[in-house]
Amino acid sequence: MRITYRCHQCDATCVESNVTAQTRQLTCRSCGQTVRLPEGAWNEGRLQRCLVCPCRELFVRKDFNQRLGVGIIVLGFALSTVAWALRRPLWTYGILFATAAIDMVLYFLVGNLVQCYRCHAEYRDLDQLESYQPFDLETHERFRQEAARVAVARAAQASTASAAESGPGTAPQ
Ligand SMILES: [Zn+2]
Ligand SMILES: [Zn+2]
Repeated sequence: MRITYRCHQCDATCVESNVTAQTRQLTCRSCGQTVRLPEGAWNEGRLQRCLVCPCRELFVRKDFNQRLGVGIIVLGFALSTVAWALRRPLWTYGILFATAAIDMVLYFLVGNLVQCYRCHAEYRDLDQLESYQPFDLETHERFRQEAARVAVARAAQASTASAAESGPGTAPQ
């Protein structure tokens, strides 16, 4: 199995291949930060939870690079606009149709991956892919709101901490 995750320490994108149920820890290649993998994360070869965060909810999705997909469509649109300007309507429709077809073929050719709702870690080359649930917007929204609350709490904490730090210095003696 191959995992792609964000390092908590330095925010680098880490890719680790050959991760198995026996792998005990991952090490960030940029900063050396290690992540200890939780016990009991696997059950008979099936990944039960995220390995790099406490989340137990995973979903399966197409391993499709959305940026590439959108890029192909945008390129097709630009080329068809040129064809239209050159008064080549057949070329215009042909280019639009071809780019849409390329996107569709790519979408069906790519495999699946499993992703964590909370930290967005990606798991490739997993077994029993059919046993995972597809993406659920409600669950995604729950984790998104939780992340937003944590960010607000952290910002509040940071501002009280800096207020406490500057407090004694500015107080009259
Ligand atoms: Zn790191
Ligand atoms: Zn996670």
